[in-house]
Amino acid sequence: MSPAFELIAGDPSLDFANTLSGDRFHAPRENLNEYGDLLAFARQAGLVDASCARGLAERAAREPGEAARVLARAIELREAIFRIFWALGSRKKPAPADLGLLNGELATALAHREIVARGGSYSFGWTECDDLDQPVWAIAVAAADLLADEDRGPIRMCGLAEDEECTWIFLDETKNKSRRWCSMRDCGNRAKARRHYERAKGS
Ligand SMILES: [Zn+2]
Repeated sequence: MSPAFELIAGDPSLDFANTLSGDRFHAPRENLNEYGDLLAFARQAGLVDASCARGLAERAAREPGEAARVLARAIELREAIFRIFWALGSRKKPAPADLGLLNGELATALAHREIVARGGSYSFGWTECDDLDQPVWAIAVAAADLLADEDRGPIRMCGLAEDEECTWIFLDETKNKSRRWCSMRDCGNRAKARRHYERAKGS
Protein backbone atom coordinates (compact mmCIF):
# COMPACT_ATOMS: atom_id res chain seq x y z
CA MET A 1 0.00 0.00 0.00
CA SER A 2 1.43 3.39 -0.92
CA PRO A 3 1.52 6.02 1.82
CA ALA A 4 -1.53 8.27 1.85
CA PHE A 5 0.17 11.51 2.85
CA GLU A 6 3.08 13.49 1.46
CA LEU A 7 5.32 14.32 4.37
CA ILE A 8 7.44 17.17 3.09
CA ALA A 9 7.28 19.83 5.80
CA GLY A 10 10.23 18.80 7.96
CA ASP A 11 8.03 18.47 11.03
CA PRO A 12 4.98 16.31 11.77
CA SER A 13 2.90 19.21 13.07
CA LEU A 14 3.39 21.14 9.81
CA ASP A 15 2.70 17.99 7.78
CA PHE A 16 -0.49 17.74 9.81
CA ALA A 17 -1.41 21.34 8.93
CA ASN A 18 -0.90 20.34 5.30
CA THR A 19 -3.54 17.61 5.46
CA LEU A 20 -5.85 20.32 4.17
CA SER A 21 -4.24 20.68 0.78
CA GLY A 22 -4.58 22.74 -2.36
CA ASP A 23 -5.22 26.44 -1.75
CA ARG A 24 -6.92 26.28 1.62
CA PHE A 25 -8.33 29.80 1.34
CA HIS A 26 -10.07 29.33 -2.00
CA ALA A 27 -10.18 25.67 -3.00
CA PRO A 28 -9.23 23.47 -0.06
CA ARG A 29 -8.97 19.70 -0.39
CA GLU A 30 -9.75 17.83 2.82
CA ASN A 31 -7.67 14.71 3.40
CA LEU A 32 -9.02 13.89 6.86
CA ASN A 33 -12.51 12.62 6.18
CA GLU A 34 -12.76 9.99 8.89
CA TYR A 35 -10.94 8.92 12.02
CA GLY A 36 -9.08 6.29 10.00
CA ASP A 37 -7.45 9.09 7.98
CA LEU A 38 -6.23 10.78 11.16
CA LEU A 39 -4.85 7.46 12.32
CA ALA A 40 -3.19 6.78 8.95
CA PHE A 41 -1.51 10.18 9.13
CA ALA A 42 -0.33 9.59 12.69
CA ARG A 43 1.06 6.17 11.74
CA GLN A 44 2.85 7.48 8.67
CA ALA A 45 4.29 10.45 10.57
CA GLY A 46 5.54 8.14 13.33
CA LEU A 47 3.29 9.68 15.98
CA VAL A 48 1.49 6.48 16.97
CA ASP A 49 3.13 3.07 17.10
CA ALA A 50 1.83 0.10 15.14
CA SER A 51 0.43 -1.93 18.03
CA CYS A 52 -1.49 1.05 19.45
CA ALA A 53 -2.77 1.96 15.98
CA ARG A 54 -4.36 -1.46 15.54
CA GLY A 55 -6.20 -1.08 18.84
CA LEU A 56 -7.28 2.46 17.97
CA ALA A 57 -8.68 1.36 14.60
CA GLU A 58 -10.74 -1.34 16.33
CA ARG A 59 -11.97 1.07 18.96
CA ALA A 60 -12.92 3.70 16.36
CA ALA A 61 -15.00 1.04 14.58
CA ARG A 62 -16.75 0.16 17.87
CA GLU A 63 -17.30 3.82 18.88
CA PRO A 64 -17.93 5.79 15.69
CA GLY A 65 -19.56 8.75 17.49
CA GLU A 66 -16.59 9.24 19.78
CA ALA A 67 -14.18 8.77 16.85
CA ALA A 68 -15.99 11.50 14.90
CA ARG A 69 -15.77 13.87 17.89
CA VAL A 70 -12.02 13.28 18.19
CA LEU A 71 -11.59 13.90 14.46
CA ALA A 72 -13.47 17.20 14.76
CA ARG A 73 -11.18 18.25 17.62
CA ALA A 74 -8.11 17.22 15.65
CA ILE A 75 -9.26 19.40 12.76
CA GLU A 76 -9.81 22.36 15.10
CA LEU A 77 -6.29 21.87 16.42
CA ARG A 78 -4.98 21.55 12.87
CA GLU A 79 -6.51 24.87 11.86
CA ALA A 80 -5.02 26.59 14.93
CA ILE A 81 -1.60 25.07 14.15
CA PHE A 82 -1.86 26.24 10.56
CA ARG A 83 -2.81 29.80 11.55
CA ILE A 84 -0.02 29.98 14.15
CA PHE A 85 2.71 28.90 11.72
CA TRP A 86 1.24 30.80 8.78
CA ALA A 87 1.45 33.92 10.97
CA LEU A 88 5.10 33.14 11.80
CA GLY A 89 5.82 32.59 8.10
CA SER A 90 4.26 36.01 7.41
CA ARG A 91 6.35 37.55 10.23
CA LYS A 92 3.21 38.23 12.25
CA LYS A 93 2.22 37.32 15.77
CA PRO A 94 -0.06 34.29 16.16
CA ALA A 95 -3.51 35.07 17.56
CA PRO A 96 -3.82 34.55 21.34
CA ALA A 97 -6.94 32.41 20.73
CA ASP A 98 -4.92 29.99 18.59
CA LEU A 99 -2.13 29.75 21.16
CA GLY A 100 -4.84 29.22 23.77
CA LEU A 101 -6.32 26.32 21.81
CA LEU A 102 -2.88 24.74 21.39
CA ASN A 103 -2.13 25.22 25.10
CA GLY A 104 -5.42 23.58 26.02
CA GLU A 105 -4.63 20.50 23.94
CA LEU A 106 -1.05 20.53 25.22
CA ALA A 107 -2.21 20.48 28.85
CA THR A 108 -4.43 17.46 28.12
CA ALA A 109 -1.61 15.74 26.23
CA LEU A 110 0.97 16.30 28.96
CA ALA A 111 -1.36 14.77 31.54
CA HIS A 112 -1.00 11.52 29.56
CA ARG A 113 2.74 11.71 28.91
CA GLU A 114 4.97 9.17 30.64
CA ILE A 115 8.36 7.55 30.44
CA VAL A 116 8.38 4.01 29.10
CA ALA A 117 11.26 1.65 29.85
CA ARG A 118 12.15 -0.80 27.11
CA GLY A 119 15.20 -2.97 27.70
CA GLY A 120 17.87 -0.58 28.88
CA SER A 121 16.47 2.51 27.19
CA TYR A 122 13.78 5.01 28.05
CA SER A 123 11.47 6.98 25.85
CA PHE A 124 8.38 9.13 26.03
CA GLY A 125 5.11 7.26 25.66
CA TRP A 126 1.46 7.62 26.61
CA THR A 127 -0.44 6.40 29.65
CA GLU A 128 -3.09 4.73 27.47
CA CYS A 129 -2.48 2.94 24.22
CA ASP A 130 -6.18 2.67 23.37
CA ASP A 131 -7.43 6.23 23.91
CA LEU A 132 -8.80 7.65 20.66
CA ASP A 133 -7.26 11.01 21.58
CA GLN A 134 -3.71 9.70 21.30
CA PRO A 135 -2.98 11.09 17.80
CA VAL A 136 -4.25 14.52 18.94
CA TRP A 137 -1.96 14.45 21.98
CA ALA A 138 1.04 13.58 19.84
CA ILE A 139 0.29 16.35 17.35
CA ALA A 140 -0.18 18.96 20.10
CA VAL A 141 3.18 18.03 21.65
CA ALA A 142 4.91 18.13 18.24
CA ALA A 143 3.48 21.57 17.46
CA ALA A 144 4.49 22.94 20.87
CA ASP A 145 8.01 21.48 20.54
CA LEU A 146 8.41 23.10 17.15
CA LEU A 147 7.05 26.44 18.27
CA ALA A 148 9.34 26.56 21.30
CA ASP A 149 12.44 25.38 19.41
CA GLU A 150 14.70 28.43 19.20
CA ASP A 151 17.09 26.70 16.81
CA ARG A 152 14.55 25.73 14.16
CA GLY A 153 14.75 27.20 10.69
CA PRO A 154 12.22 29.75 9.42
CA ILE A 155 8.67 28.70 8.55
CA ARG A 156 7.82 29.22 4.90
CA MET A 157 4.79 28.86 2.68
CA CYS A 158 4.91 27.33 -0.76
CA GLY A 159 5.99 29.65 -3.56
CA LEU A 160 2.68 28.99 -5.26
CA ALA A 161 0.68 30.39 -2.32
CA GLU A 162 0.45 33.77 -4.03
CA ASP A 163 -0.91 32.12 -7.16
CA GLU A 164 -3.73 30.67 -5.03
CA GLU A 165 -2.65 27.14 -5.80
CA CYS A 166 -0.87 25.72 -2.79
CA THR A 167 -0.84 26.86 0.82
CA TRP A 168 1.38 24.16 2.25
CA ILE A 169 3.79 25.31 4.92
CA PHE A 170 7.18 23.87 5.80
CA LEU A 171 10.35 24.32 7.74
CA ASP A 172 13.22 25.76 5.75
CA GLU A 173 16.22 23.72 6.83
CA THR A 174 18.44 24.57 3.88
CA LYS A 175 21.86 26.00 4.68
CA ASN A 176 21.26 29.31 2.91
CA LYS A 177 17.55 29.46 3.85
CA SER A 178 16.43 29.33 0.26
CA ARG A 179 13.70 26.68 0.19
CA ARG A 180 10.78 27.98 -1.87
CA TRP A 181 8.63 24.99 -2.72
CA CYS A 182 6.68 22.48 -0.73
CA SER A 183 8.02 19.95 -3.18
CA MET A 184 10.33 20.51 -6.12
CA ARG A 185 8.69 17.59 -7.90
CA ASP A 186 5.25 19.13 -7.70
CA CYS A 187 4.94 22.92 -7.18
CA GLY A 188 8.59 23.62 -8.02
CA ASN A 189 8.25 22.00 -11.42
CA ARG A 190 4.91 23.61 -12.06
CA ALA A 191 6.35 27.07 -11.41
CA LYS A 192 9.38 26.28 -13.57
CA ALA A 193 7.17 25.15 -16.47
CA ARG A 194 5.08 28.29 -16.12
CA ARG A 195 8.13 30.59 -16.21
CA HIS A 196 9.37 28.71 -19.23
CA TYR A 197 5.99 29.09 -20.96
CA GLU A 198 5.81 32.80 -20.16
CA ARG A 199 9.34 33.36 -21.45
CA ALA A 200 8.52 31.48 -24.65
CA LYS A 201 5.31 33.49 -25.05
CA GLY A 202 7.16 36.74 -24.43
CA SER A 203 9.93 36.15 -26.99
ZN1 LIG B 1 3.24 23.80 -3.03
